[in-house]
Amino acid sequence: MTKKYAIGVDLGGTNIRASLITSGNEVMEKVKEPTGKDPLAVLHKLLDSLYTPYGQEVGGIGIAAAGLVDRESGTVLLSPNIPALNGVSLTAELEGKYDTCIVVENDANAAAYGEKVAGAGRDIGSFVMITLGTGIGGGIVIRGELLPVAAEVGHMSINAEGPPCPCGNVGCLELYASATALIGNAVAELERGTTSILKDLYNGNFYKISAEDIYRGALEGDPLSRTILREAGKSLGIGIASMINLFSPDAVILTGGLIGAWNIYVDAAIKEAAKRAMKELYSRVKIIPSSLGDDAGMVGAARLIPHPCAK
Ligand SMILES: [Zn+2]
Repeated sequence: MTKKYAIGVDLGGTNIRASLITSGNEVMEKVKEPTGKDPLAVLHKLLDSLYTPYGQEVGGIGIAAAGLVDRESGTVLLSPNIPALNGVSLTAELEGKYDTCIVVENDANAAAYGEKVAGAGRDIGSFVMITLGTGIGGGIVIRGELLPVAAEVGHMSINAEGPPCPCGNVGCLELYASATALIGNAVAELERGTTSILKDLYNGNFYKISAEDIYRGALEGDPLSRTILREAGKSLGIGIASMINLFSPDAVILTGGLIGAWNIYVDAAIKEAAKRAMKELYSRVKIIPSSLGDDAGMVGAARLIPHPCAK
């Protein structure tokens, strides 16, 4: 018999979030805790808080994990932001305890699938989704199906002579267009003595600035903030152009904290992508924001659970 709910989990570097996802993709009973030093203990605690009252009605647990995952075994192969999970099979960890199907997927892939089933990608056949936050991730949906590939968009090199990336490559998109990159560039300029209103924040301790501060600075007309956001956007546009040329999608869906700066950062990306992508492909693509935001990963992971769960 079809169960009423699935549990969706977003296993991130900062927080772990879980919720009940209804068959109509509604997100209910959201719970959240900092990831901390023992992410497995937090995961068990959050799952218990949902499974204890609702277990009878739960038809599977879908986990969207930050990092490279092996779907077959449900193993986190490499998670730079949650190193405690490297090499851990979440499926093996959970299936003895919860008598239901466990599915593990990369967080950006799960988010792309979430947008497909219930968000901005619902009426779009093929799209590339790019997550723009501390790092940059991606997921690819072709003809309604999530491609079972890594889709590490952030680790596509856009500069052959660029700085080294922890992934092993050099000049990765993430080093130019992520929130981490924005902050790094701003701090480097401030250290060099560049004039900016960012210098006055946090009593002059500009090492504390956030990507949001830079966006706010840009809105107030600060030239440094504007330049940094535009340059990062331009780099993103180089990546988007390559994705358009590779996959000829109907849309590129952008999500994550940085899309708050749409009118500067994303606009610059769109301009650059228009210049660089093949015209015939660019003319049929639309570049749009996600609609599920932070919930996309939980919804997508829940919907990736085989239906009905064989257990
Ligand atoms: Zn890289």
